[in-house]
Amino acid sequence: MAKVDSPVGHSQSTGAPYGRGLYCNRTLNMRSIKVIGYDMDYTLVHYNVEHWERRAYQHVREKLAARGWPVQDLDFEPEFVARGLIIDIDHGNMLKVNRFGYVKTAYHGTVAMDYDVLRSTYGRTIVDLSETRYRFLNTLFALSEACMFAQLVDRFDRGELPEDVKSLRELYDSVRASIDATHMEGELKAEIVSQPERYVDLDPDTVLTLLDQHHAGKKLALITNSEWSYTSSMMSYTFDRFLPDGVGWRDLFDLVIVAARKPSFFENRDPVLAVVDSQRGLLEPHVGPLVSHGAYFGGNAALVEQHFNATGDEILYLGDHIYGDVHVSKNVLRWRTGLILRELEDELAAVHESLAEQAQIAELMRQKERLEYEYYQLRVELQRHKRNYGPVPERTVSSLNSKMSSIRDSLKVLDDEIAPLAKAANRVHNRRWGLLMRAGNDKSQLARQIERYADIYTSRVSNFSFATPFVYLRSPRGSLPHDPVASRK
Ligand SMILES: [Mg+2]
Repeated sequence: MAKVDSPVGHSQSTGAPYGRGLYCNRTLNMRSIKVIGYDMDYTLVHYNVEHWERRAYQHVREKLAARGWPVQDLDFEPEFVARGLIIDIDHGNMLKVNRFGYVKTAYHGTVAMDYDVLRSTYGRTIVDLSETRYRFLNTLFALSEACMFAQLVDRFDRGELPEDVKSLRELYDSVRASIDATHMEGELKAEIVSQPERYVDLDPDTVLTLLDQHHAGKKLALITNSEWSYTSSMMSYTFDRFLPDGVGWRDLFDLVIVAARKPSFFENRDPVLAVVDSQRGLLEPHVGPLVSHGAYFGGNAALVEQHFNATGDEILYLGDHIYGDVHVSKNVLRWRTGLILRELEDELAAVHESLAEQAQIAELMRQKERLEYEYYQLRVELQRHKRNYGPVPERTVSSLNSKMSSIRDSLKVLDDEIAPLAKAANRVHNRRWGLLMRAGNDKSQLARQIERYADIYTSRVSNFSFATPFVYLRSPRGSLPHDPVASRK
């Protein structure tokens, strides 16, 4: 990716690699931010998604196999699923939905739903994420579960699952329970800790970014749902090697909060314990204000605001979980929010590679619109002619008919040219689902969630190093359908 991007979206350019900008939905002046809170998993610590999710998937498979389910031959298929898709549990479908809630692409199990079935199933449906039948894939951790569910829907339909699995809801709940157990039992995390080089994707510039922020006077806080021992291991592995001698990861953070139970952390007043022995992770009840450079277990966002004497718009929280990190902190506390979306790098590379095809489609569509316009004019002229009203006709009925016939032929030629290009465009980035942020010409539901709840979004934390801790991030002027189009011919 040699092309250079603006590090701050589209308005300025100072040399970040392409796809590594900070993209801004709501203007954010970093100088007015006093506190930067960080999530850990997939935010400060990035995992190799395929390795991690395949391993999580294998754990789920073992649990289901132990219950006699026929799953031994199944394997994790990363292309089946993507963050931002929606599972319709009751129908066993995976959906790509646009910003208005309309279903644009659907798979039943692992099989693409054809257009007529999609229309009859979802033609009158507006997907409302608050309904329990839907599960929005908020994080990369959801991919293994979504893949397993899709594959097992195929087997459920064929009657291959045990008889006690009576509905797709029960099937989903079993998969879900298995993945929850995998995360809870700690076996998977123990494997990650014992082999971090296999699962963790190091980025030395993350440390530089945090040092920049720290020395620019920002207070940094780590707020993670992971437990102490796992957090401590991962942060040491990821950070300590890149820090100067005698400095450890704990020195970067004014507060460390583990087992935070987000999103409850942002909504409730859960009690806090202090980590009193960082080697053994021993806990004690904690009363009173938090202490600088302390490590805590649980607690709540009000304690953080109180500790830093900061209000919502002085705190920026960065995380990768669309609901647990940015939706709730924005809704409940009005914290400034940033979403970490690593897939954006591949998505933008795919967008860049397909620019020529996009331009070709746009040009053909312009030609089509011009011909259609001409056709409609002829059609209304013919109607007036036949019904004998309106202006005196300039052309005969037969000349109008023949001209319309010739335009229909041209449109057919154009459509034949556009169709394969449009089909290919819908497979850019992911051959099943296309671009994550778009649904056809429109924004996807993922893009909608991000613009609603994330003030900024970016592929990784270290992108802040290009923009510096002093940057004034300005949102671009949004386009509206009535804006003049300069390039329209
Ligand atoms: Mg996370």
